[in-house]
Amino acid sequence: MYYNWTKDTNTEELKIVCNLIKNGELVIFPTETVYGIGANALDSNAVNKIFIAKGRPSDNPLIVHIANKSDIDKIAKDITKMEKKLINSFMPGPFTIILKRKECVPNNVSAGLDTVAVRMPDNIIAKAIITYSGVPIAAPSANISGRPSGTSVDDIRKELEGKVSAIVDGGKSNIGLESTVVKVVDEVPVILRPGKVTPEQIEKTVGKVVIDSNVFAKPKKDTKVESPGMKYRHYAPNTKCKLFYAKDEKDLIFEINKQIRIYNNVVVLGFKEHKDKINVKENNYIEVSSKDNIEEYAKNIYTDLRKADNLNANVILIEGVEKKSFGIAIMNRLLRTCEYDYKEL
Ligand code: AMP
Ligand code: MG
Repeated sequence: MYYNWTKDTNTEELKIVCNLIKNGELVIFPTETVYGIGANALDSNAVNKIFIAKGRPSDNPLIVHIANKSDIDKIAKDITKMEKKLINSFMPGPFTIILKRKECVPNNVSAGLDTVAVRMPDNIIAKAIITYSGVPIAAPSANISGRPSGTSVDDIRKELEGKVSAIVDGGKSNIGLESTVVKVVDEVPVILRPGKVTPEQIEKTVGKVVIDSNVFAKPKKDTKVESPGMKYRHYAPNTKCKLFYAKDEKDLIFEINKQIRIYNNVVVLGFKEHKDKINVKENNYIEVSSKDNIEEYAKNIYTDLRKADNLNANVILIEGVEKKSFGIAIMNRLLRTCEYDYKEL
């Protein structure tokens, strides 16, 4: 069933949706980062349906979503001082913390790890669904595993309709990129997956932060990855993608035009200001954002990757952003989109 709550949360429909969650069914719902495909996190059969619907590898654990900080103690234990500080500073928000798991959390939620990932979304609809369902909700991004995450219902309806019991439309996701995932190791926060909560923000709040080496490096086969989701090809359309970045925009434009001559029939995802300087047909240039607006870039990138995929090109050339602040998160995703086919000039 499709429910349109872009203007208002309908209370009758909210009851129906929450009953579905309570009864072990799957519901797609909006959050401020990306859409989630959710199930009762304490019901392992319900959680199993998520893995099936997404075609998600069973060794990739799920994030458990809660509506109140007091719910953390129901699923996690032995919370340290540093963990508490991070929770109090960044929740609710686009921030996930890996904590020691309590026994009540089913094994498949944590993919057999002794930890559980916890997030408290800052989105009215997500909060209402979690609150009135009365259970924590396990929810990975709403997309078939490996595809770009869903940031609007239009993008994912075809892909997931029929695999879930309800889809709740809350409009376009505010942030457009998945949460920052942090694990505290020896009282130091380690960023396993960068997101809207930046390393600078964490450092400013708690004094120190480490960025895990897998954030930019290609994980080697058989090495241990702290956040299992990071080892797969991810966030990717079917068309091959290539990523470019240059500090000097002349170099970037020169390189993209060179690539266009090599591969004919390309789509370019680039900045609004570069459109007139890049030699592709009008319809094959997708303006992701203005040059310095990385918030706008993040908001649009998954939708634009899907749009580009529908143009049946040989290759999608992507203008990347500087790897700093929130740009770290954007480049972390795009490196996986491009399977590390990246050139920095
Ligand atoms: P998504 O599927 O887009 O919701 O992404 C969830 C991310 O969180 C994936 O990269 C997971 O591997 C990661 N994650 C979830 N639970 C854990 C955990 N217990 N330890 C480490 N990473 C986790
Ligand atoms: Mg995902």
